[in-house]
Amino acid sequence: MVRVALDTPLRRLFDYLPARDATFDPQPGARVRVPFGRQRLVGVVHSWAASSDVPREKLKPLLEILDAEPVIDAGVMELIEFASQYYHHPVGEVIAAALPKLAREGAASRALTERWYPTEAGAAALDGKELGRARKQRELLGILCAEPGIAATELTQRLDDWRTAMRALVGRGFVFSAEVADEAPVADPPLLRSTGPALSAEQSAAVSAIDAAAGKFAPFLLHGITGSGKTEVYLHAAEHCLRHGKRALVLVPEIGLTPQLVARFRERFAVTVAVLHSGLTDSERLAAWRECVSGAARIVLGTRSAVFAPAANLGIVIVDEEHDASFKQHESGFRYSARDLAILRAQRAGVPIVLGSATPSLESLQNVVSGKYTRLSLPRRAGQALPPRAAVIDLREHAVRAGMSTPAVEAMQRHLDAGGQVLVYINRRGYSPTLACTACGWIAPCRDCDARLTVHLAAAKLRCHHCGAEAPLPEDCPQCGYAVRHVGQGTERVEETLTSLFPAMPIVRLDRDVVRKRGDLESVVSRIASGEARILVGTQMVTKGHDFPSVTLVVVLNADQGLFSTDFRAPERVAQTIIQVAGRAGRGDRPGEVMIQTEYPGHPLLRSLLEEGYDGFARTALAERAAAGWPPFAHVAALRASASTLAAATDFLREARALARLPRGLKLLGPAPAAMTKRAARYHAQVLLESPERAPLHRALSAWLPAIEGLKHSRDLRWSLDVDPLELF
Ligand code: ADP
Ligand code: ZN
Ligand code: ZN
Repeated sequence: MVRVALDTPLRRLFDYLPARDATFDPQPGARVRVPFGRQRLVGVVHSWAASSDVPREKLKPLLEILDAEPVIDAGVMELIEFASQYYHHPVGEVIAAALPKLAREGAASRALTERWYPTEAGAAALDGKELGRARKQRELLGILCAEPGIAATELTQRLDDWRTAMRALVGRGFVFSAEVADEAPVADPPLLRSTGPALSAEQSAAVSAIDAAAGKFAPFLLHGITGSGKTEVYLHAAEHCLRHGKRALVLVPEIGLTPQLVARFRERFAVTVAVLHSGLTDSERLAAWRECVSGAARIVLGTRSAVFAPAANLGIVIVDEEHDASFKQHESGFRYSARDLAILRAQRAGVPIVLGSATPSLESLQNVVSGKYTRLSLPRRAGQALPPRAAVIDLREHAVRAGMSTPAVEAMQRHLDAGGQVLVYINRRGYSPTLACTACGWIAPCRDCDARLTVHLAAAKLRCHHCGAEAPLPEDCPQCGYAVRHVGQGTERVEETLTSLFPAMPIVRLDRDVVRKRGDLESVVSRIASGEARILVGTQMVTKGHDFPSVTLVVVLNADQGLFSTDFRAPERVAQTIIQVAGRAGRGDRPGEVMIQTEYPGHPLLRSLLEEGYDGFARTALAERAAAGWPPFAHVAALRASASTLAAATDFLREARALARLPRGLKLLGPAPAAMTKRAARYHAQVLLESPERAPLHRALSAWLPAIEGLKHSRDLRWSLDVDPLELF
């Protein structure tokens, strides 16, 4: 019996009989096509079993074996299995997340080339008279006899419109074609295309520590301030691993936002670097995946789901910007943390893993404290660059014009006069976050969310940043007809203000409204890098790994956002953003300056961050988490539900809660409405399961979930489980 994992929400495997008249049996990790009800699905062989719970006469045979070799190797299969248990998610859906769409639909695991061959009759006909005066057919047949197996693409380069003549030859039985799998190149090209700068003492020490751990599981936290040369450490560590004939797996948060990292790997290495991310078209993704399957790729670089990429003979795993929230898939489907699974993958493979960041997550820092991870520090900037000087501007003490304080404007003038570039950070896109009536107090709300609509002036639209709803921008209050006012700042408005303040200075803006398609980001980045633009206004996007050597001043407009959020991770995010944005200043040979505008200069978080740096902040924040019993000092899972009424969502959760049988020490909290209860016309609520230890939490979930699955509910209600959620409310 073959056990097959299918992409269905059912938490089980499906048994099949071996395929009729197959010459071989598919191995675990190979794809097969199977009948499923009235459908035919592509699944992955999980295992072979001696018996089945299903009576034999009810079992159906496999329809087709798609892979002679597994496309998911034993190591990744184990990872998938673990992920399915840890996140309590159906294994078939986990496997689906591990494969590109076209592979899930049955596309060949190797690129196929159309090749042409002569038949024996064809070879004989070349010398005979049968072809008569068919000049083109004769020429084509001649090529095929001289080079049997020539690729169709090659023929196209040599002969125009050869297909008509070829059809005639096929009709005469003189030629035939076959789709042949491409072979991976046998000889490897040289490893390096270029060599980097000589390493600093700290960089060398980090690289040596990682090298010394080769061949065994060893987690490292590479904590290097921005611009300290972490990437250079990754490149060297990867190089050493490649020299030993192994492969490197590199995970990054969002490639669309960090094309520079990909570029640096490609500039350094001459070997194939397979790049896997969500911005690719389906066929590009398939092509990159094929490079992994065939083993042609020596380096696999990708976002989240690349943690499941095939990479036989793995020698190292690298996770860049390990603190980044986008490593956690939390929106839909299979909710997993690629960073956490990467650690597990390295552990199973018995190889070192490097988690790099200028602002490590509190979880990882705690793992250093507890001795699980080894910390490698890069406390100085690479090359000549000095860390920037930071100052706080108290917004209550200074005149502010459209969000810009006088000292900030003066500093900008100074840096621009000196030939520097200035980066202005604000964490909101659009023109203003609120449209309000000056008379009756009406505020433009989203009809479907507990949120205000954002003004997008250039587009003359109101937009909801939570559900995507759009409405025309009203000129007068729809309630009383009086004039409306734009309240607060977004990137679009800051750009407008700066244009009027510095009319001679070219300004570019970087946010998700500007970067909509491929190439947009590159063009903005190149306008900064070339020095053409002097002022850059942007959201979080500007913090992601770009290296702008001429930026000498960074102004942070609204650092207070998030200081008072209900989300327990908000302070960590604020600190990370400030440090990451500040890190964009002074990366070249001119010293940098950072100005942080705030209405709460005395806030303990801001103070610890400015006075003691990220480490000082992290100590304070970890102590707070320990006192409150929050992760990483507790383990949490969130059972979430949504429905078109809040009552339906909470009723379901109440019933679910009643089914839980908890051992001592575990706590259930809720049901409680989510922080943003109404989102996209649905009401969200949740129950939190909390445990001081991980194991009992998982045991409790394993017992609880089948009971929840047995609950009857309307089709309108949707529920999901999120293990290690990023947000608790
Ligand atoms: P990080 O990833 O830590 O922010 P990068 O690796 O991007 O830092 O390095 C910042 C800059 O310093 C880059 O331009 C890089 O080429 C340069 N750099 C890195 N290491 C060295 C070194 N040892 N000597 C000189 N320049 C270096
Ligand atoms: Zn009004
Ligand atoms: Zn909305």
